[in-house]
Amino acid sequence: EMLRKSNEKLTQLATTDALTGIANRRSFDRTLEVEWKRMKRNGLPLALIVIDIDFFKRYNDHYGHKQGDACLHQVAQLIRQALTRPGDFVARYGGEEFVVLLPATDLDGASHVAERIRLAVQSRGIPHEDSNVAPSVTLSLGVSRAVPPLPVDMTPESLFRAADAALYEAKSQGRNRVGTREIDLVSSSATPAPQG
Ligand code: GH3
Ligand code: MG
Ligand code: MG
Repeated sequence: EMLRKSNEKLTQLATTDALTGIANRRSFDRTLEVEWKRMKRNGLPLALIVIDIDFFKRYNDHYGHKQGDACLHQVAQLIRQALTRPGDFVARYGGEEFVVLLPATDLDGASHVAERIRLAVQSRGIPHEDSNVAPSVTLSLGVSRAVPPLPVDMTPESLFRAADAALYEAKSQGRNRVGTREIDLVSSSATPAPQG
């Protein structure tokens, strides 16, 4: 029993982000692989949201690293609380970036969840005097989804790249918003089929 408990504890340490208490990057990578396979098996879409806190370097510079850490913790809980389905998965990807995996969810549904997350953080009103977007902490979010059948060579990375590109767009269009992006089927498939 003691061995089982300490094994459980070790697994938890290895998969949890110490600062926020949610899943860590490593846990996300594994879950993405598992959900990717499941998606291909069951024929249902898989959506991914990449989330980035706006002007967070300035937050740290203005309020200090310790309060920055507290802010990261609070944002993580708000994201977690905005998720409703048992299969939904949130992780800290690194720094001030988070990822959410939504199994069996299409682009519309995922954008809806992303918007709910954005509003949850905005309406919490965590002061951010040095932000250019709002007087409080805000998020930019990028959404993508894969729907089978996919080209055989397509990997989970293509889903991540698409969501990241959508996030980049949201940033450049003014931040504090949700961007969406389809997987690019053409450029992400390997060699084209031989002609004739
Ligand atoms: P943008 O609006 O374009 O996203 O700008 P940004 O400042 O949020 O992005 P940038 O990548 O320039 O800076 C991210 C900052 O996040 C850098 C660092 O100060 C802060 N940061 C990263 N990890 C941690 C952490 O674990 N704790 C704290 N307190 N701050 C962190
Ligand atoms: Mg960032
Ligand atoms: Mg940022």
